[in-house]
Amino acid sequence: MKADVLVIGAGAVGCSIARELTRYNLNVIVVDKNPDVGGLASKSNSAIIHTGYDASPGTLESELVVAANPMYDKIASELDVPFSRVGAILPAITDEQFELLPTLKEKAFKNRVYDIEYLTKEKVLEMEPNMTPEVRGALYIPRESIIDPFLLVVGYAENAVANGAQFLLNTEVTGIEIKDGRITGANTTKGFIEAKFIVNAAGLFCDQIASFVKKNDFFVNPRRGQFYILDKNTNCKTNHIILPIPTKLTKGKLMCPTTHGNMLIGPTAEDLEDKLDASTTKEGLQSIVADVKKMIPCVNMKDTITQFAGLRPNRNPEGLHIDAYDDVPNFVNISGVRSTGVTGSAAIGKYVIRLLQTMGMDAKPNLSFNPVRKSIPCFHEMDIHQKEEIIREDKLYAHVVCRCETITEGEIVRAIHSPIPAKTVDAIKRRLRAGMGRCQGGFCGPKVIEIIARELGIPQEAVVKDRIGSNMLEGKAK
Ligand SMILES: Cc1cc2nc3c(=O)[nH]c(=O)nc-3n(C[C@H](O)[C@H](O)[C@H](O)COP(=O)(O)OP(=O)(O)OC[C@H]3O[C@@H](n4cnc5c(N)ncnc54)[C@H](O)[C@@H]3O)c2cc1C
Repeated sequence: MKADVLVIGAGAVGCSIARELTRYNLNVIVVDKNPDVGGLASKSNSAIIHTGYDASPGTLESELVVAANPMYDKIASELDVPFSRVGAILPAITDEQFELLPTLKEKAFKNRVYDIEYLTKEKVLEMEPNMTPEVRGALYIPRESIIDPFLLVVGYAENAVANGAQFLLNTEVTGIEIKDGRITGANTTKGFIEAKFIVNAAGLFCDQIASFVKKNDFFVNPRRGQFYILDKNTNCKTNHIILPIPTKLTKGKLMCPTTHGNMLIGPTAEDLEDKLDASTTKEGLQSIVADVKKMIPCVNMKDTITQFAGLRPNRNPEGLHIDAYDDVPNFVNISGVRSTGVTGSAAIGKYVIRLLQTMGMDAKPNLSFNPVRKSIPCFHEMDIHQKEEIIREDKLYAHVVCRCETITEGEIVRAIHSPIPAKTVDAIKRRLRAGMGRCQGGFCGPKVIEIIARELGIPQEAVVKDRIGSNMLEGKAK
């Protein structure tokens, strides 16, 4: 197998790069060790498209996040991804926090985020009735936005496939070959892939990939972030992203609506060593409720429907790096995409293409590039006439599988046969939300397994949750 550019990692960063590469006549291959796109960090985060107001001014991260934010109106519309410019409120509750507001505003200005405003206590309470009455005032950042991060990655990936890229999933890179000072390709669990250029977008494992070419003068540890999701029916909602005053370690624990109408609270920030430890802990979850309650006192654990954790790829020494080298001239090494990589992905994609061009990549424009990708028709968003029409067209749309989120068999079957086929239970969940409602898959789970098995022609026992070995059934289902 031969690639002009081989991208390692199918998270937000790798998939955005792949999509950007297909704007040119290039043979693009993306490999990922997981059975689905969506990455590791890219599927478990706060889902905010940041403005970069609080980045460290003058850094590459600030440059790329600030540049990326305005791109999302177009990207979300082209790729059919749920996205909303809800805006963020940063409440000052203590005297100390109130005194910090001008400093934060000044920092935002240094990052060229000029549309940041002060809010009076009265205005905050009018915009957010559930805010603590102790609030003294706030900053308002109108372009802080929310997105469905998983559908963003699926959108990037499916659009890249439609424009000619190839995705090899369940394929782990185990080494990189170098001859006469140039990379010749990568060894993978599915064989050798010849490549003119390799881009390392492996997130938490980018240090391992970098070590294959001896460019690992850093290491990456996971910085875990735990979250709660609240039921859509909770009375304790906010209209905006409610951000605490950030500290040096973290942006803090926030509360925000998701694009699907739930409320998200979290995350924690815990430095770990084990790159596979995405567990939640009693202490972590308790600290979320305690901290968020200081801003929004009505938050109640009784409203939670699930909890999860994501692992930020924390580079040591820290900072976003996109490096190229004289002595390995066809390797792009991306590291430190820690806390803003969903946002940054749009600009990182463009930045990497430009870098590859300066490294000698011969890239003629792909004149047939089509930026538009359509998502699977969503039954519960249709009016009655559209519902009748789609059921006439596809009888499987008459069968509701997930009762909490009203997801039909028609949608599930289409996802299984989509350009990046959804072959796992989590792949279905993340694309369609079957299993993301109040019952968390208790009712629809077995039916989803049955449909995946039937459509892929495999036994139900072979269906996995999210990765090799995560089989859902031990033996034959009744
Ligand atoms: C708690 C938390 C909250 C966050 N909140 C936000 C937010 O609100 N907004 C925001 O913009 N960002 C946020 N982030 C950051 C964001 O999620 C990450 O920066 C971003 O997802 C990183 O994307 P990535 O593609 O680099 O990595 P990943 O998504 O981790 O993808 C890397 C991929 O590389 C693959 N891979 C690794 N090694 C190999 C190998 N040897 N062979 C093949 N494939 C390999 C992995 O399987 C994985 O799929 C948050 C992160 C966390 C954890």
